[in-house]
Amino acid sequence: MKTVSIVVPCYNEEDVLQLFYTETQKVLDTIPDYGFHYIFVDDGSRDRTLSILRELKRAYSNVDFLSFSRNFGKEAAMYAGLTHADGDYVIVMDADLQHPPALIPTMLKEIEAGHDCCAAMRTSRTGESRIRSAFSRTFYRLSNRLTDVSLVQGAVDYRIMSRQMVDAVLSLSEVQRFSKGIFAWVGFDTKWLPYENVERPLGKTKWSFWGLFKYAIDGITAFSVAPLRMVSLIGFIISCFAFLYIIITLIQTLIFGIDVPGYVTTLCAVLFLGGIIELSVGILGEYIGHIYMEAKDRPIYILRESSLPYGKRKSAQTKEDSADERADN
Ligand code: UDP
Ligand code: MG
Repeated sequence: MKTVSIVVPCYNEEDVLQLFYTETQKVLDTIPDYGFHYIFVDDGSRDRTLSILRELKRAYSNVDFLSFSRNFGKEAAMYAGLTHADGDYVIVMDADLQHPPALIPTMLKEIEAGHDCCAAMRTSRTGESRIRSAFSRTFYRLSNRLTDVSLVQGAVDYRIMSRQMVDAVLSLSEVQRFSKGIFAWVGFDTKWLPYENVERPLGKTKWSFWGLFKYAIDGITAFSVAPLRMVSLIGFIISCFAFLYIIITLIQTLIFGIDVPGYVTTLCAVLFLGGIIELSVGILGEYIGHIYMEAKDRPIYILRESSLPYGKRKSAQTKEDSADERADN
């Protein structure tokens, strides 16, 4: 019997966890040819999420959980879940039932049909503000133009992956993870499954507008150096204009003598160049920041509690451990 691990990142999801389990299990009961195993990852929740996970673990034999020492973010939670998942296939889905469990049978069918991955994409954005949708669309357009990886509009972190693809995703052990980009970067044959957006039944979203903005910037800088090239290009174009202007002014001065002081021109030039320089330093800073964080090579997450036994691929506590394990396997 093939096994399927289901990785579920949870942050302050006390309201919805039990409902998530029963709803998902209802669907899984209709496909008895697979062995399903849940790995809930408590991402340092401040509510009763962890104690509910302990209860779920006691009540159901197919549940395990990991719990972080603090909130490391959804990306870290997904990574932790993936390092501990040992199924033939691995599903990643949200705990809030916004990723309809009803899609699982179709996803399994697609992956059995030979795809390496079957991922869900939203066709609508009901329940989301207009501004947020507009920014999101701009991000996808910009990101696809600037980076080598092409992100699919509406793609969510709900997918089933083959063992081979999961190992490929784990081999990218960067600390600042942008999973949407990583999934696209590793390649493989992905089948897209459209679905209508579902609103959260309980609890509320953890994303603030500012959080999403930072996420978007990180996403672009993690997969492209195009902004750096843009800075060089702007510098080059401005230098060309400056050179022309110098020659014209020089000739003017030689022929007509020294003109009236160009107060406005000087002011405009100084302000304009000042702005460009600030922008360039900012862009450089983004990349240096990334290098700095990666150079520290800190673990992506720290476990405080886990229902999974240590040993084999399950003991991944730090990046090094998981890298060693992968080398062993
Ligand atoms: N999540 C997490 N860590 C965080 C924020 C969110 O593990 O720091 C989980 C959350 O519990 C949920 C999933 O990531 O299962 C998606 O979060 P949310 O529903 O808040 O995002 P949205 O659906 O609004 O994009
Ligand atoms: Mg959600």
